[in-house]
Amino acid sequence: MISVFGSANMDLVAYVSKAPKLGETVTGHRFRTVPGGKGANQAIAAARAGGQVAFLGAVGDDGFGAEMRATLAEAGVEVRGLRQVPGPSGIAHIVVDDDGANSIIVVPGANGTITGPSGEDLAAIAGSSALLLQLELPMGAVVAAAQAGRVAGVPVFLTPAPAQPLPAELLEAVTTLVPNEHEAAAITGVEGPDAALDALLELVEEAVITLGADGALYGSRSGERLRVPAVKVDAVDTTAAGDTFVGALAVAHTERMGVADALGFAAMAAALSVQREGASTSMPTRREIEDALG
Ligand code: AMP
Repeated sequence: MISVFGSANMDLVAYVSKAPKLGETVTGHRFRTVPGGKGANQAIAAARAGGQVAFLGAVGDDGFGAEMRATLAEAGVEVRGLRQVPGPSGIAHIVVDDDGANSIIVVPGANGTITGPSGEDLAAIAGSSALLLQLELPMGAVVAAAQAGRVAGVPVFLTPAPAQPLPAELLEAVTTLVPNEHEAAAITGVEGPDAALDALLELVEEAVITLGADGALYGSRSGERLRVPAVKVDAVDTTAAGDTFVGALAVAHTERMGVADALGFAAMAAALSVQREGASTSMPTRREIEDALG
């Protein structure tokens, strides 16, 4: 079982010609609500890629919470560890203009009430084949979950997003760090993926820097280094490409694929997702990934 301890947000997306300035009101031309949050996205990506996945997190006692629970369950994610807390669910209020540029307000809501893994969470983590973490829950909770994974000998994958300083005790507990190029630069203070990878390997055993349409760069302390080209596709929406990549990577890892095959599997899953709009709605199934790999 892959455990994802993380955030669930409802994305509230308004499409406008030009984003409003402070104090201004504009009329948008489209609106949609999409279940998201990095934790939920990674859980759904992993389940669709063929993993057995449990989601550990919190939603509020509102309609958004019920919808997110249903979306996760429909994707085949185990939701017994998704608790309902009084108050609103987490939301991301997103404004997208005609150039595709966006501005986002995240209100953590229920996610912010998670101060640490519960007893049930700790038991689930200890029995997992992999633990996926991101930084949309309070930092103390993420650190405690990572440490629980490390103590139990469970591989801990961390997506260090949104970018922020990473405490030493978190890095010590992480097995595989999966930042994008910007996060890698923010963590290390080093520009350029090769130099950033060297710097990351001072901090963790293994790292994968995702490079958008340029693929990914993998390295481990044992000296292995691999450049994974992206699959050439026409991207229409790269939302959650990174989350799809990590979810599929964790599935490949738990199936004991070799590193090159695992990275190829993850890159194909992500490439399929960028050809479709949305986050959870864009993630490919196992069959789609295998068919595309040929
Ligand atoms: P990112 O978070 O943008 O670095 O993307 C994560 C992963 O998604 C990359 O490592 C690629 O494997 C894949 N990906 C992102 N953008 C594209 C694209 N335009 N074409 C193909 N694959 C992509």
